[in-house]
Amino acid sequence: MATDVELFDLVVIGAGPAGLSAAIEARRFGLSVAVLDEQRRVGGQIYRAVEESSPRRREVLGADYAAGAKLAQDFATCGAVHVGGAAVWNVARDKTVSYLLDGGSKKIQGRSLVLASGAMERPFPVPGWTLPGVMGAGAAQILYKSSGAVPTEPVVLAGCGPLLFLLAQQYLDAGVKIKALIHTTGTGDYLRAASHVLGALRGWKDLSKGSQMLKKIRSHGVQTFAGASAFAIEGAEKAESITFTHNGQRKRVQASLVLLHQGVVPNTQLSWALRAEHRWDEQQLCWIPVTDACGQIEETGIYIAGDSRGIVGAKASASQGRLAGLAIARQLQAISPEKFKAHEPAILEEIRTHTQIRPFLDTLYRPQDAHRIPTDDEVTVCRCEEVKAGQIKKYVEVGCLGPNQTKAFGRCGMGPCQGRLCGLTVTEIIASERKVSPQEVGYYRIRPPIKPITLGELASFE
Ligand SMILES: Cc1cc2nc3c(=O)[nH]c(=O)nc-3n(C[C@H](O)[C@H](O)[C@H](O)COP(=O)(O)OP(=O)(O)OC[C@H]3O[C@@H](n4cnc5c(N)ncnc54)[C@H](O)[C@@H]3O)c2cc1C
Repeated sequence: MATDVELFDLVVIGAGPAGLSAAIEARRFGLSVAVLDEQRRVGGQIYRAVEESSPRRREVLGADYAAGAKLAQDFATCGAVHVGGAAVWNVARDKTVSYLLDGGSKKIQGRSLVLASGAMERPFPVPGWTLPGVMGAGAAQILYKSSGAVPTEPVVLAGCGPLLFLLAQQYLDAGVKIKALIHTTGTGDYLRAASHVLGALRGWKDLSKGSQMLKKIRSHGVQTFAGASAFAIEGAEKAESITFTHNGQRKRVQASLVLLHQGVVPNTQLSWALRAEHRWDEQQLCWIPVTDACGQIEETGIYIAGDSRGIVGAKASASQGRLAGLAIARQLQAISPEKFKAHEPAILEEIRTHTQIRPFLDTLYRPQDAHRIPTDDEVTVCRCEEVKAGQIKKYVEVGCLGPNQTKAFGRCGMGPCQGRLCGLTVTEIIASERKVSPQEVGYYRIRPPIKPITLGELASFE
């Protein structure tokens, strides 16, 4: 039976730093706000399960994690409605949001929307990455944050990026044995990043955190290989070892659990589903939705904040969320344009301060070409439909111009993840084969449902 769709001044998708901050800001000006997240508890990626984590887990995860408790508390008392366990499977330009909850499908509508769906780990398509015993370092951290689960056997961490080192430090503090840390950052990366060091020095606190992490890892005597390349995981039925090139030699480390990571990229499924314009960002090697300074897509009343608007980190994500909340309050005439103008510059300055380190980090931890664009044709790219790199190259040979057509050629990107995991790789393979820019190649046309939905759930749709 059809019922009225619940209407709020603001509907936020994502209860991480960006979404929570947008909600708190909008509530300050009296707007009615609902925040949806597929996780039951607020916090997003960085502060996942912060409200319920034990003191021991908070200690291991560090001060940056524990800081999320204050944000969660501010949100709990701000008067916004929190809909936990709500997986959004469609958004429309009329600001209607469709989501799954407790086995049924529901709708909610906002006079404005904030998309704050955050980041996801960049795919790492190397030989053997689909073997059991190989997973993302971020996924391993999710297990620890949400349930305290840690590996019982020694692990190998491989790849690049701050999260790889952060997890190494957290694992050491939690008593996990790290067999080896194999990272790709080498002298060339440091030299390239040197040109951005001035900006990075302005974010010296974050910079010093990085060097403290490395110091700690070394002090535990973890076997570390820097400047490694050409990773491959070997094993018949499951991971048995990882091989890589280091100082010009091929090396092998036995491992039954390999945690791969090469940075995070914006989760843009929602903005693509809205047909927003996106541009390829050569510095972060990913798609970024085009917005105005406050994060608004065109003149739609739909805003994007946080890592789903380009990787900026937790602090800048929170500031972007506040800016979106403030801009919406002005748009819905809860505050005057003068009041908006009085607050906007300080938040923009915060964002600038928190993002000054980005060019340095993005350059230092730029993932290697061969770890993004497989040279081995046997590497699986689309995990859902089991499409290999060589097949995509063959599609290009016979005239496939972009990711969308790979769907017709071989169902690539048509599985339950809707191309979320293979999209960037497919774009970059095609661009490389066609010798054009990823911008020219484009991305999948994302259609609902962006989350798997059963027929039963669809039938319950009001
Ligand atoms: C696996 C992982 C671990 C990370 N760990 C750390 C860390 O320990 N420290 C650190 O400094 N940075 C970490 N980061 C980076 C961190 O995510 C960001 O800097 C910061 O959390 C971004 O905030 P945000 O609000 O933009 O997004 P997030 O914090 O990512 O929040 C986005 C939220 O949106 C929800 N969401 C997404 N899609 C949907 C949907 N369709 N329906 C409903 N809900 C949806 C997600 O469940 C999530 O809770 C991590 C990133 C990843 C991917």
